[in-house]
Amino acid sequence: MSAPAPKPRAGVLDIDAYVPGESQVPGGVKPIKLSSNETPLGPSPKAVAAFTAAGAALERYPDGQATALRQAIARRFGLNPDRIVCGAGSDELISLLAHAYLGPGDEGLFTEHGFLLYRIVVLAAGATPVVAPETNLKADVDAILARVTARTKVVFLANPNNPTGTYLSIDEVRRLRAGLPADVLLVLDAAYAEYVRRNDYEAGLELVATSENTVMTRTFSKIFGLAGLRIGWAYCPAAVADALNRIRGPFNLGAPSIAAGAAAMDDWAHIEAAVRHNDEWLPWLTAEIERLGLKVTPSVANFILVHFPTEPGRDAAACDAFLKGRGIILRRVMGYGLPGALRLTIGTGAENRAVVDALAAFVGARA
Ligand code: PMP
Repeated sequence: MSAPAPKPRAGVLDIDAYVPGESQVPGGVKPIKLSSNETPLGPSPKAVAAFTAAGAALERYPDGQATALRQAIARRFGLNPDRIVCGAGSDELISLLAHAYLGPGDEGLFTEHGFLLYRIVVLAAGATPVVAPETNLKADVDAILARVTARTKVVFLANPNNPTGTYLSIDEVRRLRAGLPADVLLVLDAAYAEYVRRNDYEAGLELVATSENTVMTRTFSKIFGLAGLRIGWAYCPAAVADALNRIRGPFNLGAPSIAAGAAAMDDWAHIEAAVRHNDEWLPWLTAEIERLGLKVTPSVANFILVHFPTEPGRDAAACDAFLKGRGIILRRVMGYGLPGALRLTIGTGAENRAVVDALAAFVGARA
């Protein structure tokens, strides 16, 4: 008989580990990687310079309060720096929020095609995931509210959502907040906020500033082009910031991340250029792909969801294999309950044209 081995606590083995976007294609050629919603424009050169300069003092622990970074964020958005908590990516902050506010017997609520991390962090906290259906691949406030019980402690909403690219207007978000019990924490995950160009959209800063129970998370991984450094931030009510600061690692961001993030925040021209790039290519890609007879979910972010027919050979799996054969990597989204779709991140102009050409070849070859 083998000796008893340590066992993780309930819920942990129910988790399907997060599968990142693939980054390699067979044959060792450099792929066109459009699988992780990274920016084609890279980070600000000022951020890279700050990162490099930080390399001169790696024997020192970083500033555990990430002061320079919190101050840069606070300056940019006119916020109170005491209410900003930084993390190793917004992933870490979402996970810390779950660990601080959820435990066995509690329910964490999110939507049908919501970002996959929510299920993972709810289960990791020992709580029960509850899923609200969406309407036309979009979060549905009434459906979320209908699933609230006395056990609901946290509601996670990605706005805009990954992988659908759909969003809720700030009025809808306010209606959600107003309909939730006051002791339920609403987490607004605004990882793609900078890309959104809609008059009725707001990331939620004001809602956080004027409530005790709403948190907004943001990231440097997308439009800021610093995914490799793992930098995220949360804007929180004072009591939530206090809870997160008690449970986070005392040095959860490295010194190069703090320095590069602060420099990136101060280079808004770089962000504006990235927004312009997205504004040009998001409608172009949507129109070109629709012209091929494929359905595209209207997106406000830096990626689009493309839907394929179900016939074998013409379906999402076949297209994924076909594109990989041409060195192009998109993201399959089966884990999101969307086996018939592929998610495509907006790339450089040349990459976008290459994807449309390859999709045209796929559709044509199998028409
Ligand atoms: N939220 C959403 C909706 C995302 O798509 C992502 C990135 N996949 C994240 C959060 C996490 O980003 P990061 O940890 O790199 O900040």
